[in-house]
Amino acid sequence: MPELPEVETIKNDLAQAILNKKIVSVKVNKKNILRKSVRYFKNKLIGNKFIKINRRGKLMYFSLRKDDLFLLAHLKMTGQFIYCNKDKFIVGGHANSKKEEEQILHGQVADFCQVGKYTRVIFEFSDKSKLFFNDLRLFAYLDLVNKKSLDEILDKFGIEPLTANFKFKDFFNILQNRKTSIKAVLLNQQLIADIGNIYADETLFMAGILPNRPANKVSSKEARKLFLAIEGILKKAIKYRGTTFSDYVDSKGKKGSFVKLLKVYGRQGQKCLKCKNIIEKTKTANRGTHFCSSCQK
Ligand SMILES: [Zn+2]
Repeated sequence: MPELPEVETIKNDLAQAILNKKIVSVKVNKKNILRKSVRYFKNKLIGNKFIKINRRGKLMYFSLRKDDLFLLAHLKMTGQFIYCNKDKFIVGGHANSKKEEEQILHGQVADFCQVGKYTRVIFEFSDKSKLFFNDLRLFAYLDLVNKKSLDEILDKFGIEPLTANFKFKDFFNILQNRKTSIKAVLLNQQLIADIGNIYADETLFMAGILPNRPANKVSSKEARKLFLAIEGILKKAIKYRGTTFSDYVDSKGKKGSFVKLLKVYGRQGQKCLKCKNIIEKTKTANRGTHFCSSCQK
């Protein structure tokens, strides 16, 4: 599942590829991936241009030049955007199968520029380049909304890390008012948008806090460490173009390289890099959770 750093990477790459290009056609292969009618999508998008791409949590929203509308895109579990021009340049997304993943690893990425089994929507631009919206599981979606609806949707997200709105005082307040586990708080996108499972485990390890600790029992000093870990780890993950653990690929068809820097996520049964204790895996907040019981209290 793409998390914040992966979506940020895809967003930045797409912005370089598609902005201010006239959309000349929109082909929909699976209409229930859209939250409005196919006719409405075609009506509003064909002849229009994307002029800006933003992100809130894992939701991307594309501003359109005409009609004061926004295209919303959520990749959910297996969604991907693949952009291809005549050089077959890829913008971002996930392989749909082990075979595709192998092809990516071996640099045989040409297949991405053909309509795949899981290609749901194809945007074509005036320079003949194309953007594929692919999704295997069909949880991903596209929507077209006006400014008022967009604001209502964005209001439901919690504070956004890596922005000026992410302040320690507010962060600590959130923790103090929650009796659930600290991990559940980190995964609750209505409180903090939207760290994701990998980065929740990594930040808790860095801050030395056990994932199942009640949030309101985390001290101010520990919360400060966690706050700094969130900023530091997310920034670093974006710099490394995200983490690949199943099938995420970046703009050159390459995998995100943050996976090499993971300290606990996916390392169950292996030695802790700090203390040589064995990393454990359990379930907290209904998600697979990785931690070191010696480094984290
Ligand atoms: Zn340890």
